[in-house]
Amino acid sequence: MRRWGFLVALVVLAVGLWWSRAPLGAAFYARVAEQRAGRNALAGRSDGITLIFCGTGTPLPDPDRAESCLLVQAGDNLLLIDGGDGGARKLAGWGVPLGGLDAVMITHLHSDHIEGLGPALLMRWTGSAARTALPLIGPAGTARLAAGYNEMLHADAGYRTAHHGEAITPTGGGQFSGRDVGPGEVWNAGGLVVTAFSVDHAPIAPAFGYRLAYKGRTVVISGDTTANPAVAAAAKGVDLLVHEALQPRLVAGITAGLERAGQKRTAQITRDILNYHTTPEQAADIAAQAKVGMLLLTHIAPPLPSRLLHAAFLGDAATRFSGPIRIAHDGLVLHLPVGSKAVDDDSL
Ligand SMILES: [Zn+2]
Ligand SMILES: [Zn+2]
Repeated sequence: MRRWGFLVALVVLAVGLWWSRAPLGAAFYARVAEQRAGRNALAGRSDGITLIFCGTGTPLPDPDRAESCLLVQAGDNLLLIDGGDGGARKLAGWGVPLGGLDAVMITHLHSDHIEGLGPALLMRWTGSAARTALPLIGPAGTARLAAGYNEMLHADAGYRTAHHGEAITPTGGGQFSGRDVGPGEVWNAGGLVVTAFSVDHAPIAPAFGYRLAYKGRTVVISGDTTANPAVAAAAKGVDLLVHEALQPRLVAGITAGLERAGQKRTAQITRDILNYHTTPEQAADIAAQAKVGMLLLTHIAPPLPSRLLHAAFLGDAATRFSGPIRIAHDGLVLHLPVGSKAVDDDSL
């Protein structure tokens, strides 16, 4: 009898909750939104270089990874290195404010490194009421890319100023100022020095990697490249090498599937991409040559839907480089504190 009473009470409760789902949902949403909106995931770390991986994928469709995107914070500097599709919106979702963005640097003009620059520009503008254009720095063609973005967003920028007013979205802040640069020092402010170096991603030329140095901590970002001595030279003794990686043995499965499905042109593209990237094993060789402190692989191709595939992706990389090797994921945060050799990690 008692058991029946309990069951009836349970049913009444379930029906009550179902009937109240709209007000309950609204109350729950309001509570969570109040806690999450406006938070600042950049705050609270010690002085050092912080890297936030906002996109660790490639043009190969991957539900877990946005295209190339890396946010760098060092002292008062906030830089975005590459802005592939989806990256800036991921940052916003994690509570990383972009109002303080000082500049965007791009490694090369491939679409998977530049297609998400519009949202980054908008978030910097609305986040800071910027009155000046956002510097967009990169290899030859970058100024033209900036002009193209400005043209594409011309009407939108006008609408937003008209709607929100000059105090919130001032005229002039919703655009890029593009600058083509050669290899060499491209940024030097507040202790952070960024140096561009040429890599080999032919036929995409020029293509850059970047070296970051801040108060004794050092990071090299390879950009997209074949296994290249220039990366090893730039990375000599750095604390962290962030290298792109593609595993041909796993891409071969995609090629075979496309062939079987009769999609010969797409199959050929998956063959073509093999000749302008670096395998995880080659990246490990470069890390060993350069004697870096840690190797982090990013620009991961093909997609790895499970961590169980990491071993197959890495192959024998661990036998070639004795230091730590990691595979980046979207939301990974690495922090290199000043005055230490540590590379701390966290996830957003
Ligand atoms: Zn790429
Ligand atoms: Zn590329």
